[in-house]
Amino acid sequence: MSVTDQAFVTLATNDIYCQGALVLGQSLRRHRPTRKLVVLITPQVSSLLRAILSKVFDEIIEVNLIDSADYIHLAFLKRPELGVTLTKLHCWTLTHYSKCVFLDADTLVLSNVDELFDRGEFSAAPDPGWPDCFNSGVFVFQPSLRTHKLLLQHATEHGSFDFGSSAKVVHFLGSTKPWNYKYNPQSGSVLEQGSAPSSQHQAAFLNLWWTIYQNNVLPLYQSVQAGGALA
Ligand code: UDP
Ligand code: MN
Repeated sequence: MSVTDQAFVTLATNDIYCQGALVLGQSLRRHRPTRKLVVLITPQVSSLLRAILSKVFDEIIEVNLIDSADYIHLAFLKRPELGVTLTKLHCWTLTHYSKCVFLDADTLVLSNVDELFDRGEFSAAPDPGWPDCFNSGVFVFQPSLRTHKLLLQHATEHGSFDFGSSAKVVHFLGSTKPWNYKYNPQSGSVLEQGSAPSSQHQAAFLNLWWTIYQNNVLPLYQSVQAGGALA
C-alpha cells in the first residue's frame, strides 16, 4: 500500500552531493518504500544530474534562497554562512505532503525505514528549547509554513542544531564523504589510502555505498546518455 501524501526528502545543492542523493535514493528503493521520494535541488545542479535524479526520485523540487519569500531572503542575508542549513529548512515548505522524513544526502538506508513515519513530528511545538535537533542526518517532520518561519528564526539567531541518528540508517558525517574514497570494482572494496576508513564497520558501509553506486547509479548515466534524454 502506498501513501502518496508522505515522502522521503533529501537535498543536493550540487552535482557532487547528487551522487550521494542517488545512492540514498537507490538504497531506499531496494527496500520498497511505500512513500514518495523527493529531492530538493538548487539551480547549480546540472541538467545531466537532473535527468538522472528523475529516474530515481518521484519529484525534483528546485529551491533558490535568493528568490525565496522575503523572510527567507532576509534570514539568508543576515547569516549567509548558513546557506545549506537554510536550504535544508526549505523542506518545511513541502506542504503538499502531510508528513516527511528528511535524510541527508550522505546517508544510506540498510533496511526498510517506513516505520519512521509512525513517529511523531519532533518539531510539533518548536520553541527555543527543542532543537537539539538540526543539522541532523535524519528527522521526521510535518511541512508547515509557520514552523518553517520559526525554524528560520531559530537558525539565524542560534546557528544550526544537532541530533542523534537511527540504527537503520548510516550517516557518513564529517568532511570525508563516501564519494571521496577510491573504489576498486574488482575487489569490491574502497582503497585504503590517505583517509582509510576508521573501523571495519565503516569500511563495510562504505563498500555498500559503492556497490549501490556501481550497480544502481552508474547504469542510469548510461541510460540517460544513450537515450539522449537531456532536454
Ligand atoms: N548539502 C548539500 N550541498 C553541500 C553541503 C551539504 O546539498 O555543499 C546537503 C546534503 O544533503 C548534506 C546535508 O546538506 O547531506 C548536510 O551536509 P553534510 O552531510 O555535508 O554535513 P554533515 O552531516 O557532515 O554534518
Ligand atoms: Mn550529513
